[in-house]
Amino acid sequence: MRDGNDRVPGMRVVVVGGGVTGLAAAAELRRLAGPHLQVTVIDQSDRLGGKLWTGELAGHPVERGAEAFLVRVPEALHLARQAGLADSLVHPAPVFPGLVVDGQLRRQPAGTLLGVPGDLEALAAAEVLSQAGLERVRSEPPLDAAELIRHGDVAVGALVRRQLGDQIVDRLVDPLLGGVYAGRADNLSLAATMPGLYAQLERHTSLVEAAAAAQREAPRVDGPVFATPKEGLSCLIEAVAKQADAQYLLGAPVRELTLTAQGWRLVLGDTRDPEVITADGVVLAVPARPAARLVSTVSPVAAAEIGGIDYASVALVGLALPTTELPALSGLLVPATEGYLVKAFTFFSRKWPHLATDGLTVVRASLGRYGEEQTLQRTDDELVALVRRELSAIVGRPLPEPVDTVVTRWGGALPQYAPGHLDRVRRARAALDKVSSTREGPPAIALAGAAYDGVGIPACIRSGQTAAARVWEALTRRGSQGETTAEGETDHE
Ligand SMILES: Cc1cc2nc3c(=O)[nH]c(=O)nc-3n(C[C@H](O)[C@H](O)[C@H](O)COP(=O)(O)OP(=O)(O)OC[C@H]3O[C@@H](n4cnc5c(N)ncnc54)[C@H](O)[C@@H]3O)c2cc1C
Repeated sequence: MRDGNDRVPGMRVVVVGGGVTGLAAAAELRRLAGPHLQVTVIDQSDRLGGKLWTGELAGHPVERGAEAFLVRVPEALHLARQAGLADSLVHPAPVFPGLVVDGQLRRQPAGTLLGVPGDLEALAAAEVLSQAGLERVRSEPPLDAAELIRHGDVAVGALVRRQLGDQIVDRLVDPLLGGVYAGRADNLSLAATMPGLYAQLERHTSLVEAAAAAQREAPRVDGPVFATPKEGLSCLIEAVAKQADAQYLLGAPVRELTLTAQGWRLVLGDTRDPEVITADGVVLAVPARPAARLVSTVSPVAAAEIGGIDYASVALVGLALPTTELPALSGLLVPATEGYLVKAFTFFSRKWPHLATDGLTVVRASLGRYGEEQTLQRTDDELVALVRRELSAIVGRPLPEPVDTVVTRWGGALPQYAPGHLDRVRRARAALDKVSSTREGPPAIALAGAAYDGVGIPACIRSGQTAAARVWEALTRRGSQGETTAEGETDHE
């Protein structure tokens, strides 16, 4: 680690976007640069956290966005520990997740990689496929990876349908991928959503073998796979924000970004009374569409690339029910082929035993499969009624009137990694790097967040940290060349 602080007094880095990516970037900048770097985090919302937001239901904390983070990809666990939350982490109860198949409830089979089976015995034992569906999986044709991925990537659905048949996609892969990306297997990139499996393709003549090998080679963790702070994920956001010791400008949409001889110039806030901020470095940690708008004057090529990343919208409906008996599962995935609009239910009060819900049964439903946005064009009351109706039909008994409900709508919730996504992101980053031709050294700007390098919380944290390191490296290199341009002042136009 190089400490360029003595050479670069008064430097400022602006992080646009105060979600988990932006805050991880801010904390990393503070770690790398020490106390003298001015770090400013700007968010258009009046709160930090983006998709991490702990709300309330019947007087109890409930997540209105993300619920927990994966421990196997270590960045979130490390960040939580560094932020002093090691003792407050809790884990889900060891209860199986379920799946609706032909109207029946089943446990999700063990040994799959996002639904792609690596263990045919476990798949058969789970009874989620018909006999014909299982036979189709067992009679997999030889895998010709070179032919399939000759364009560098392939849609998950195309590969799995061809090797293992439609049923495994419709009943397992599609709902499991939908649970992470709110997307459809037929539209999502294998290289971007299942890099471990993609890396195995050329070494195996069967997709099942490749899925087994990818699972064997995945990093192992002893103990629970997921964790979350017992007070909720907003607590992680607060702790990291404190650690980053940045200046926070909330309720301030960044509307323009330009590169001037003095550095980056950002225009934010109200159009009638805009504020201008100059910065030496910028981390853009906003979703792809606002990022594309912001870089359009700096690099139209990068803007066109990231502007092409599509998004799925999601609505979450939380119900607090009087004590209600639900299946002994942590929740349920509902394949699109089952004919319901809800795509997943989480039985919160069973899955998270630390939640003191005073005997209430708390359920959260997720709606909004990619391409079915009209589902969400209902009032909150209509969504609540729909969720009650569908859960009653699935569990086979009427549900009581809820004591409380909460509906959260996430327009543009999750980026859709289409085939070729990784190349698209590489091209966008390379185009932004070319902006350096007008200046000495690499331009101190980096793209980070769910749009690019993985949607899970740990991947977003890693993306933010990498972007911060990249910007800091560029600044210290420039600082060492005597190119400091920092002004770090805020003017009103
Ligand atoms: C419903 C849902 C459930 C999820 N569940 C999980 C889960 O359980 N586990 C998991 O690991 N992941 C989960 N995810 C994914 C994960 O939460 C997100 O991918 C991640 O939080 C995204 O973080 P981010 O900082 O990149 O983006 P965001 O959280 O979207 O933050 C971007 C920020 O940029 C701000 N912004 C946008 N435009 C501008 C602008 N012009 N100027 C200033 N600010 C701007 C926004 O206000 C926002 O605060 C879930 C996602 C959703 C939607």
